[in-house]
Amino acid sequence: MAYDFDLFVIGAGSGGVRAARFAAGFGAKVAVAESRYLGGTCVNIGCVPKKLLVYGAHVADELEQAAGFGWTLEEGHFDWGTLIANKNREIERLNGIYRNLLVNSGVTLLTGHARITGANEVEVEGQRYSAANILIATGGWPQVPDIPGKELAITSNEAFYLKDLPRRVLVVGGGYIAVEFAGIFQGLGADTTLLYRGDLFLRGFDGSVRTHLKEELEKRGMDLQFNADIQRIDKLDDGSLKATLKDGRELVADCVFYATGRRPMLDNLGLENTGVELDERGFIRVDEQYQTTAPSILAIGDVIGRVQLTPVALAEGMAVARRLFKPEQYRPVDYQNIPTAVFSQPPIGTVGLTEEQALQAGHKVQIFESRFRAMKLTLTDIQEKTLMKLVVDADTDKVLGCHMVGPDAGEIIQGLGIALKAGATKQQFDETIGVHPTAAEEFVTMRTVTR
Ligand code: FAD
Ligand code: NDP
Repeated sequence: MAYDFDLFVIGAGSGGVRAARFAAGFGAKVAVAESRYLGGTCVNIGCVPKKLLVYGAHVADELEQAAGFGWTLEEGHFDWGTLIANKNREIERLNGIYRNLLVNSGVTLLTGHARITGANEVEVEGQRYSAANILIATGGWPQVPDIPGKELAITSNEAFYLKDLPRRVLVVGGGYIAVEFAGIFQGLGADTTLLYRGDLFLRGFDGSVRTHLKEELEKRGMDLQFNADIQRIDKLDDGSLKATLKDGRELVADCVFYATGRRPMLDNLGLENTGVELDERGFIRVDEQYQTTAPSILAIGDVIGRVQLTPVALAEGMAVARRLFKPEQYRPVDYQNIPTAVFSQPPIGTVGLTEEQALQAGHKVQIFESRFRAMKLTLTDIQEKTLMKLVVDADTDKVLGCHMVGPDAGEIIQGLGIALKAGATKQQFDETIGVHPTAAEEFVTMRTVTR
């Protein structure tokens, strides 16, 4: 049977755009449907605007450091409206680039909500299209626990479009988004409290990293409240919000920001018309080649709930395009040693196993750990410390994990990701000549086993 398209992609986000462009490049007839914004979460309400706000907040650090280098500055004034307007202009520019990328690669772009109406059929704005393969790349959506007053809270979706910077913010959660936005709010001048339900935030990250970041955020004056969770939120007469905690305490703020994880975006997607099954967490179940339980339907990115990062969605999109239309170039996505950064202030960079994971996996480990005051701070009064840590297999000398908290951690960890992928040993780290004077050179000069 002749279909309208070889591939119908639902969602023009990180994964969908990559799969569509490359599939079209391999000669396939491809359509993409997008209901909200080209570029998806990352470009519009994720990585990109977040990083721009992080840069904005970081300016406060530079201003604080300036006096040590001889600069006398007038008292600074920050204008949230200008930052948001400039950010919006940049996002619009990127939306245009994504449109050109798709159209120039020959992809048919359909604007509107897509609903699957059969194993090989999708409906957009009342029009039905047939396709040999359907790719679900619909991403995720913030998930807020069902507490009284939850409608008074905002999520990252709304934070990017706030009219004013709130004076007092309660950030709820202990993952990437909570820690990053707490840093943004705090850096831009809001009184910021971070509430996390467990003992220590960033579960799954290396223990030294979690403790180090906690200490540094406290030094910066952030109010960290662990083992704390909100039971209800009420609006007060003056418009501020009262959060009543499960332990009975009451906190008042102008904004309650929830970052308690993201659910798969499956709203009105028509999965009931297909044989697509969900896993126990509610994400789309796929095999190792991203095929769902319905043979003609595939899924990638946040909607499959594996690793919710843009470069991973890109790699999955690429893998699908190759598997379907260029099988001789197909390579499975390697989920080992994915480097990642948390753009907190200071930021975290990490790749490979944490000390805890290495021990749990049965490795005999050697830990190399260094804490130091970055050279840039020596002319200032700022006492912030940088942490660098290597987790090494004592038997094979292989470096299992690299972890860092400190300026430019994300930039530094990318290169170490290549070293780990290549299977580098500690001896090879030691034999690598450092770049002097940098913070990064510490990763190749740590000689003494800490533990
Ligand atoms: P998305 O990019 O979410 O794209 C899905 C698209 O599908 C959306 O455009 C949506 O409108 C569309 N869609 C949904 N349903 C339909 C439908 N039925 N019909 C038509 N269109 C539909 N990752 C990083 O690697 N680094 C970061 O710094 C980073 N920062 C982040 C910050 C925040 C605040 C958030 C929320 C996420 C961040 N992420 C980051 C994660 C990253 O954004 C996601 O992992 C990535 O966008 C997932 O890509 P995707 O293709 O799966 O989905
Ligand atoms: P995460 O899954 O990273 O963190 C969710 C946090 O919310 C956890 O601390 C979790 O606690 C807590 N939580 C979950 N449910 C509740 C609840 N009912 N009540 C109170 N607390 C709760 O999600 P995020 O929303 O921060 O981010 C989603 C994903 O987006 C990230 O995992 C990451 O993959 C991606 N992302 C990547 C970024 C980057 O690369 N820099 C930046 C931002 C997002 P617990 O640990 O106890 O379960």
